Amino acid sequence: MTEKLIEWEKATQAINAAQSILIVTHISPDGDAIGSALGLANALKQMGKTVTVADDDGVPDFLKFLPHADTVVQYLKKGSWDVMISTDASDDERTGEVGIYGRAHSKTVINLDHHVTNTYFGDIYLVVPSAVSATEIVFDWWETIGIDWNHDIAMPLLTGLVTDTLGFRISSVTARTLEVAQSLMRYGGSLAEAMARTLESKSWKEVALWKQVLPSAVLRGQIVEAVITPDDIAAVGLTEMGDAGLVSFLRKVDEAVIAVVFKQHSEREVIVSLRSKQGYDVAEVALALGGGGHAQASGATIFGTLDDARAKVLPLLEAAAEKGKPEIA
Ligand code: AMP
Ligand code: MN
Ligand code: MN
Repeated sequence: MTEKLIEWEKATQAINAAQSILIVTHISPDGDAIGSALGLANALKQMGKTVTVADDDGVPDFLKFLPHADTVVQYLKKGSWDVMISTDASDDERTGEVGIYGRAHSKTVINLDHHVTNTYFGDIYLVVPSAVSATEIVFDWWETIGIDWNHDIAMPLLTGLVTDTLGFRISSVTARTLEVAQSLMRYGGSLAEAMARTLESKSWKEVALWKQVLPSAVLRGQIVEAVITPDDIAAVGLTEMGDAGLVSFLRKVDEAVIAVVFKQHSEREVIVSLRSKQGYDVAEVALALGGGGHAQASGATIFGTLDDARAKVLPLLEAAAEKGKPEIA
């Protein structure tokens, strides 16, 4: 994929000329998705814009502490906007139903994202694959413009930085990442709260899911694998299919270079979450499966049975484990 220019000026002109702005992000939103959406929204409102934030799945409970999280809507049935900003979504399918409605009812679409697999949809690109989070791109944009920073803008941005870097622990974190975090703290963000509400938080039901699923986890060669079925989710009283952070935990296994969790959504739909150690690329695998993500964290949805999904994914992971050459031994 050819990397395109980062169109800061075009994007700034578009929002300066706009009165109404729609912000959408990816389905099953994480800290970076909601953090970047609210960090955009809270600043744009301060600039006098009329702002709507929408995603099909709303705001997960653990992110409801973010300022103005209660303004996020789950459905768009009416309205039109001068500009739509899509944040933290690598392709337009990831923005779900609200994305479809938004694109059809917005004059200009700004694609703000940091996924290496971004498809360059939309009209104006703020696509920065070297950014550790979408919130880092929002930070850079607001610094270029020179906004009046406050807690409500800094806190969501700091939260996205913390969650996408797993607390500054991934290999793409640089000295500059810590400088961004430092600025966001100076602007009113609380690092302790961002950590406590996200990485240091798990419900008892989520712990129960780990208890339910870990007994059947397997290490095969350099790949560690776990499966979550709808029965597992029901057994622990959860309502949403998720992995409660299990795949990131499995990546810690010293003997493994790739971790995979198969989440069986239904008889014919399996969501695959992939994580790898530095030097091993699971973005390529996800892309080949019709998904996307980053070199060390990616995912895809497979339409088929659990057996179909495993038969499709595991050989690709074995090839990726063979191919990877870690920079650090
Ligand atoms: P997850 O395993 O769901 O935490 O996702 C890890 C990373 O992969 C995130 O950056 C996601 O945005 C990305 N990702 C997951 N599933 C997909 C998909 N179906 N298409 C594109 N990107 C995805
Ligand atoms: Mn995300
Ligand atoms: Mn992200």
